Amino acid sequence: MKSLSFSALAGAGLLIMSGATLAADIPEACNSYKPAVTGGPMPPPESDIVVIRWLGNANFEFAHKGKVYLFDAYFERTPRAHQVGFTVADVSKAEAIFVSHAHFDHISDIGPIARQTGAPVVGAPITAETAKKLGVPEKQIVVARGGETMKFGDATAEIALAQHSTIQPGLTDIYASLYQNDSPPYSEEEKKELARVRALGTFDPKVITEGTLAYGLVFPSGFKAVLIGSAGPITPGVRALAEKLGPVDVAIVAYQVHAVADTQIAYTWPFIDLFKPKLFLPAHHDANPPTWVDLGVEPLFDRIRTNMPNTAFVAPLYRSPICVAGGGADQGKVVSFKP
Ligand SMILES: [Zn+2]
Repeated sequence: MKSLSFSALAGAGLLIMSGATLAADIPEACNSYKPAVTGGPMPPPESDIVVIRWLGNANFEFAHKGKVYLFDAYFERTPRAHQVGFTVADVSKAEAIFVSHAHFDHISDIGPIARQTGAPVVGAPITAETAKKLGVPEKQIVVARGGETMKFGDATAEIALAQHSTIQPGLTDIYASLYQNDSPPYSEEEKKELARVRALGTFDPKVITEGTLAYGLVFPSGFKAVLIGSAGPITPGVRALAEKLGPVDVAIVAYQVHAVADTQIAYTWPFIDLFKPKLFLPAHHDANPPTWVDLGVEPLFDRIRTNMPNTAFVAPLYRSPICVAGGGADQGKVVSFKP
C-alpha cells in the first residue's frame, strides 16, 4: 500500500496512525479513488472504518463493512461543471439512496442509478413523484415525511423534515452576468445540454418547506453521521434530530450559494453548532455553471477552528477517500485522507 498523505488535513482531533498500524488496519478502500458505488474496493466486514467520498455537489457515499450508502444522484452535470471522474453508467452498487430534495442538482440521474443498483430510493413525497417521472421503479421508492426511523443494510436512517435555503431577489442574475463577463459565451449545444440537465428535476416551490429532508445515518457501533443537502433555516424536525443524535461523529452540511463568505457562514454555521460533529465536511460548495460559483471554504474552516477547536474538518476532493474510525475509542476520528 502506498503511504497515505495527511497534507490536506486540517483541524483538531485527527488521529495519525503509525506506519505499522496503517498497513495492518487501513483497508485498500482508503487508498482508492474508485467510488464504492462504481465497484471500487469496500472496507471489509472485519474493519470498523467508514470510507466517505464526496462525489460532487451534495453527492456523498459512505462505505462500511462491505456495503455502500449513497446520498443524492447528480453525476452527469451541467456543461462546464468540473467532472466527477465517472459516468452514471458506472454506478452499480448501493444499499440505499437518500435524496435531499428534487432539484435537478440532487436527483437528475436517479432513474438509471436506481435501475442499475436496485436500491431503495428514499425521499419526501415530491421527491418520490419526481423520481417516478425520472424512471425509478415504483417498488424501489420509499416515501418519508420526517420523523421516521428506517433500516437499510446495517444502517439505521433517522429522517427529519428540513427546509431548503432561499435567496434574495437578484442574486442569480448577478451570477449569470458574472459568468457572462468572465467566461466565453455558451454555444447552442451547451445551452441545449444545460436545459436538458435542468429539466431532470422539479422547481416546484413546495420543495422549500415540504420537500427537503435531513438524514442521520447510524451504524451498529454507534457511529453517527448527519447529512444536510441545503442549509435553510433550522426546522423543529432538524432540531429533534440533533437532540436524538447529537453530538455526531460526522456532519456534512451544504455550504452554498452566497459568494460573500460571512453571508453564507450565517446559514451553514448554525447546523455545525447544533450537531457539534467530530468531523465536518462541506457540501454543495463547488461551481454549478452558469449559476453558482465555486466557494472557498477557508473562512468557514477558520470559524470552526476558532469556535469549535475539537472539531476536525477536511476540504474534500471528488472521489478522494476520507477514512474515519467507525467504532472504538477513536470513533469519529479521521484515520487517513488521500487527497
Ligand atoms: Zn436545491
